[in-house]
Amino acid sequence: MPKIGLETDIQYVKGVGPKRARQLARLGVKTVYDLLYLPPRKYLDRRDVTPIRNLRHGHEAVVMGEVLTKGIDRSRRGDKWFKVVIGDGTGWLELVWKTTNEGFLSGLDKVFRKGDRVIVSGKVIIVRGGIKQIWFPEYEMVDDISQSNIAGRIIPVYPATEGLKPRYIRKLVRYVLTELEGRIPETIPGYIRKKRGLYSREVAIRRLHFPNDMDEARKAHLTLAYEELLYFFIVVLGRRMRTMGKGVPIVLNGKLTEKFIEELPFEFTDAQQRVISEIEDDMARSVPMHRLLQGDVGSGKTVVALYAMLMAAENGFQAALMAPTEILAEQHFIVIGDFLKNLPIRMRLLTGHMRKKEREAALYEISNGEADIVVGTHAIIQEDVRFHKLAFAVVDEQHKFGVVQRAKLLEKGIDGTVPHFLVMTATPIPRTLAMTIYGDLDVSVLDEKPPGRGKIVTKHRTEEKRADIYRWLFERVQDGDQAYVVAPLIEKSEKLEVRAVEELFEELKSMAPEGVKIGLIHGRMKKDERQFVMQAFRDGQFHILVATTVIEVGIDVKNATIMVIEHAERFGLAQLHQLRGRIGRGEKTSYCIVVTPKNISEDARKRIRAFVSTTDGFKLAEYDLQIRGPGELYGTRQHGIPDFRIVDLVKDQFVMSIARQDARDILRVDPRLQKPQHQIIRKHFRILKEKEVSYVVA
Ligand code: ADP
Ligand code: MG
Repeated sequence: MPKIGLETDIQYVKGVGPKRARQLARLGVKTVYDLLYLPPRKYLDRRDVTPIRNLRHGHEAVVMGEVLTKGIDRSRRGDKWFKVVIGDGTGWLELVWKTTNEGFLSGLDKVFRKGDRVIVSGKVIIVRGGIKQIWFPEYEMVDDISQSNIAGRIIPVYPATEGLKPRYIRKLVRYVLTELEGRIPETIPGYIRKKRGLYSREVAIRRLHFPNDMDEARKAHLTLAYEELLYFFIVVLGRRMRTMGKGVPIVLNGKLTEKFIEELPFEFTDAQQRVISEIEDDMARSVPMHRLLQGDVGSGKTVVALYAMLMAAENGFQAALMAPTEILAEQHFIVIGDFLKNLPIRMRLLTGHMRKKEREAALYEISNGEADIVVGTHAIIQEDVRFHKLAFAVVDEQHKFGVVQRAKLLEKGIDGTVPHFLVMTATPIPRTLAMTIYGDLDVSVLDEKPPGRGKIVTKHRTEEKRADIYRWLFERVQDGDQAYVVAPLIEKSEKLEVRAVEELFEELKSMAPEGVKIGLIHGRMKKDERQFVMQAFRDGQFHILVATTVIEVGIDVKNATIMVIEHAERFGLAQLHQLRGRIGRGEKTSYCIVVTPKNISEDARKRIRAFVSTTDGFKLAEYDLQIRGPGELYGTRQHGIPDFRIVDLVKDQFVMSIARQDARDILRVDPRLQKPQHQIIRKHFRILKEKEVSYVVA
C-alpha cells in the first residue's frame, strides 16, 4: 500500500472505506488534508485519573479499573439495563447502559470480560445507597493510559455527525498523524514564524488535535488561523495591488464642489466631513480608490457620494451611480437633480425599462461625454454602455450586488484605467468582518446622524403589561402622535402571519377608545390597497397602523413616534433595528416598546438586552455577531465571506490584523512571490487552487 499524503482521498486511509468516507464527507472531510484541518469543537481535560473513592456527584471524571461483575436487569415493559461493576482498590463504580436493543446488549456483553482492565469516562452520579454510577460512559479496554484515546490527556471533541463515534475521529487523526510524521510541508515562511512566534505546521496540527495543555491548543489554533488568513490576504491584497498606477488622479479644484457646498441647505456633519477628506486623499492618487462607505439608514451617504461625483465632474470626467432597484435609482436621480439644480451639470438616468429612443439618447450622451453624471441600475454595466471618460463609480446598497457586477463596472474606465470606486451600504457589518469580507477595501464609517432627529427611547416589557402599554399608547395618539404596532413574526407561513396581524388588529379595535382610528397593512394585500393605507396613515387619517414586517422600506412618516413590537423575541437583531428605523424621523422623542413573554430563550434575552441598550446599528451588528456567529448572520458564501476552516471571525480579530499586515509586507517586497523564502507560499497556492478554496478561485 502506498504511503498516504495530505491529498489522499480519506476513503483509502486504513480503516475508513466508502461508508465511513460518506459520513466524514458530511463534516467536509474528503481528504487527509481536510481531516487535519477539522478543528476540535472543544476540548475535555481528562488528564487526571480519579480514584473511585474520590468521585463526587456531578463530576466529569476519568476512572481506571478492573471489571468485577456484569449483568442485565430487565423491567416488565421490556427495558434492559446492562451493568458492569469495576473496582480500582479504593471503591467500586457501576457502569450503566439502558437499551431495548438486543444487539447492542450482546455487543457490550462481548466487550466486557471479568478481569479486563478498562478506562472509562463520563459524568458521575451517586444514587440511593451511595452507589456511584456513570451512565453511557465512554470506555476503552486498555492496560496503559498512555495508549488511551479517551483519557490521560486533553481530549479533542469533534463536530458530531450521525454514525461516527467521537472517538473514531480521534483515532483516525492519530493514525494519520503517525503516518505523516515528518512529511507535512511548511506553509508559512520560517522568518515569519520566528517573528510571530508560531509553531511549525506539523507541530501546530499535532497540537491542535492533541495538546498537552490548553496553552498549546491556543497557540496551535493561532498558527493555523494565521496560515489561513495570510493566504486569504495575499490573494485579496494582491488583486488590489495589480490595479496600482491604473487610476486617474483627481484633484479638487472647487469649480463645482464649492458651489455645491454653498447651495447645500445644511452643513456636513463631522462624520461626513471626515469621510469626504478620506475620499479626497484617495482620489488624488494614481492608485484607484477602493472604499467601502458604511452608514446607517439616514446617515447621509448620498451627499457624500455626490460630492465625490462632482470632484470628478469638475475635472472633466464622468461619474456613475448604480443602485439595485429602479425605484431607488429613480429616487436618487430626483434627489440628486434637486441638489444640483443650479449647477452646470448634465445628468442621465439609465434603467432597464426605458423606451428604446430614450435609451439610445442616453447611451449617446454617455458615450460622447455630454452626460456628466449617470444614475442607474444594472443597466449601467451592460456591454453596450460605453463611457467617454468614466473616472469615478459608486455602488449604492452594495451588498445586493455580486462580485462580478462590481468588477464589470470597473471595466468601464478610460482605456485600461480603473475608475475610483466607492461602495455604500446601510447593512451594518461589523468593522472586523468588513475587513475580511472586503479584505481589499478601505472602510469609512458615517457614525453620526445629521442633527434634527429626536432620540429614540427603547423599553422591554413582558406580556402581562400589555394592557398598560396600550392604555398609554391610546392616550398618546389622542394627543396627536402616531404609532406602528408590529405583529409577531411567524417564520413558517405568510398565511399564519396574516391571521396573527388580523387578530391583533381586531383586538386593538376592541380595546381602543372612541375616536382612535386604526389601520391594517400586510403583505397579502394588493399593492394599490397597501399604498392607499400608507397614504392615509401619512395624512393622519389613522392614528395607529398595525403591520407585519412588510411595512415598506422608504416609509417616512415624521409624526410617527411610537412603535410597539409584539413577540419581539421572534425577531433577529437586524430586523428589530430596521423596524425601529421607521420612528425617530422627526424632532420629537420617539418610543419603541418591545413586548415578549416572561420566559424567553437565553439568546433572545441577549438580543433584547442589546437592542434596548443602543440604537447604533453597528454596535448591534457586533452584538449579533457575538450572539449568533458570522455564518448565520450573513449566510456566508452568498455575501462573499470566505469559508474559513480554522478562523473564528469573532475571536480571531487580532490575528486577522497581524496576518493582513504581514501579507501586505510580503507583497511589498516581493509582489510576484519570486524570492526563495516565498517559494513555499507559491507551492501552497497551487494546492489551494486545486482544492478550489473559494477566495483563491473566485
Ligand atoms: P442614507 O445614508 O440612508 O443614504 P441619505 O443620504 O438618504 O441617507 O440622507 C438622509 C437624509 O438626510 C436626506 O434627506 C439628506 O438630504 C439628509 N442629510 C444628509 N446629510 C445631512 C446633514 N449633514 N444635515 C442635515 N441633513 C442631512
Ligand atoms: Mg441611501
